[in-house]
Amino acid sequence: MFDLVIIGSGPAGMTAAIYAARAELSFVVLEKGVSGGQVLNTSDVDNYPGLPEISGFDLAEKFENHAKHCGAEIRMAEVTGLEKIEGGFRILLDADDPVETRTIIIATGATPRRLGCPGEDEFAGMGVSYCATCDGAFFRGREVIVVGGGNTAVEDAIFLARGCKKVTLVHRRDAFRASKTLVTALRKTPNIELATDSVIDEIKGEDSVAGAVIRNVKTGEVRDVPADGVFVAVGTLPVNLGWADMVPCDDSGYFVAGEDCATQVPGIYAAGDVRTKDLRQIVTAAADGANAVYHVEQYLAELMAE
Ligand code: NAP
Repeated sequence: MFDLVIIGSGPAGMTAAIYAARAELSFVVLEKGVSGGQVLNTSDVDNYPGLPEISGFDLAEKFENHAKHCGAEIRMAEVTGLEKIEGGFRILLDADDPVETRTIIIATGATPRRLGCPGEDEFAGMGVSYCATCDGAFFRGREVIVVGGGNTAVEDAIFLARGCKKVTLVHRRDAFRASKTLVTALRKTPNIELATDSVIDEIKGEDSVAGAVIRNVKTGEVRDVPADGVFVAVGTLPVNLGWADMVPCDDSGYFVAGEDCATQVPGIYAAGDVRTKDLRQIVTAAADGANAVYHVEQYLAELMAE
């Protein structure tokens, strides 16, 4: 039985792995896909202390290398279930034997929210994208639409404007949720057109995206905007593994946990974007990873003393 299983290898999971290794816990990190988490979808990270102007890919690689350097084992496996057993938990895996552990840190992060408009599913991967960093290069010299008003959408619009002929940023309000610095940079970028107070009613095309129907929610004006790509950046949904019936979540599906990352199930911790919190950033996810292990250690000490 492991002392700890960490599920997810984004900034929260990798920081937890570094702290778990330094605490000499027996542990494994489970990751179902590529190590790195949402950082991999970020072009440039300029707010992680000490590492100005690093790409999301490079930062994710540094986190992983650091964790491995400390001795972390990252096992590729998809988690399919959870069982309570004497003294801990059994985690079921898709193509591997279950693992047993005294504690769990869930660091599974979040996944892109969908728009839900006609054409979105039909053209997914054929012009509709949820990752500007991954797919932006395919649209070099073309016209694209970005949807959203948060940091991701504004960063994506600025990033895409470097290679695209024109970017139309569609946002449902006229005030941006994104940081002032980003909004200032956005407004200074000449080939970005702002379509505020606007929503996408439909994404259109034949074999691939050809444009979108944009409606101004204040004036009611509807217009066709030609575009080869639509980048959706309207926030994220928590990856709670379908465990909400076992580990209490808030109404949006985030695990309820405070700064100690302790969920309402003793021995289970939630770190990073998947837990209830005010500010979802790489640095706050990393902080969660450290806090979670600190409290795991205390929990294990109490368990051993029983
Ligand atoms: P976010 O901050 O939740 O913003 C989502 C945006 O999408 C909002 O502007 C929202 O509009 C809009 N939206 C939501 N549902 C919509 C719908 N159905 N149709 C149209 N628009 C919709 O999400 P995010 O930008 O992905 O950022 C997620 C977290 O990561 C945030 O905490 C963010 O600060 C952080 N992040 C930070 C950085 C950075 O610091 N460099 C970079 C990327 C992300 P309303 O504003 O009207 O609600």
